[in-house]
Amino acid sequence: MSENRERRRFLKCLGASSLIIAPLGCSSVKEESDSNKPHYVMVFDQNKCTGCGECKDSCNVANNLPDGKSRVLLEQLSGDSNDAQCLDKGTEDNLCDRKYVRVSCQQCQNAPCVTVCPTGAAHRDKKTGIVTMDASKCAGCKYCIAACPYDARFINNETDVADNCDFCLNSKLVKGELPACVTQCRYDALIFGDMNDPTSYVSKLLKVKDAVRIKPGFGTQPSLRYIPIVKVGV
Ligand code: SF4
Ligand code: SF4
Ligand code: SF4
Repeated sequence: MSENRERRRFLKCLGASSLIIAPLGCSSVKEESDSNKPHYVMVFDQNKCTGCGECKDSCNVANNLPDGKSRVLLEQLSGDSNDAQCLDKGTEDNLCDRKYVRVSCQQCQNAPCVTVCPTGAAHRDKKTGIVTMDASKCAGCKYCIAACPYDARFINNETDVADNCDFCLNSKLVKGELPACVTQCRYDALIFGDMNDPTSYVSKLLKVKDAVRIKPGFGTQPSLRYIPIVKVGV
């Protein structure tokens, strides 16, 4: 199955029906903090993303990815222009025309890629809990790619090492900087932080905003949160 078709399956739950919170395949989450350990999360606000792609470009540079490979994609979801939910009443605006979804590693709390890796290359960073890679250990066997239910991993064809979005752990966080895509996004569509820190913006945001996770039925406990477009009055 092609990469695009696979990723379309991923996107289904934030499709045209995503104008309604908690559609099939996603679940809304009530955020609670019950641990002293950090839990880094990223929030993608579908209402703010314009699909400019600058997050992807900045990621490619920050993480030195070869041409044609990317840790993050933006998919534009096609909407039926006759779908009343897509039309912003009183304007010519078609909400579905500007509806994008971030496709990237979900930073699972229960990560199959880590479980299946025979060498320990795919692992969870002890300090931050972020799923990342030890490139020196990767055998290139692709078990992790097969195990990832979000099709979020790939082989870097220059290094022959498996790769995933690690919240810029090694390129930015170690230097005390935010992930490149978060810094780059001029529309504030991406928010990053420690959900277990009650003083963090992201923890406060998730207490008041309805957010969903992708396919929580997999049991992977993804750390990405999506704020879907909500059409007032629909
Ligand atoms: S989304 Fe895939 S690559 Fe990312 S942590 Fe989950 S299983 Fe691993
Ligand atoms: S490709 Fe590398 S990271 Fe993935 S399972 Fe094989 S050894 Fe582990
Ligand atoms: S957090 Fe870093 S690695 Fe992940 S998509 Fe953003 S820039 Fe790329």
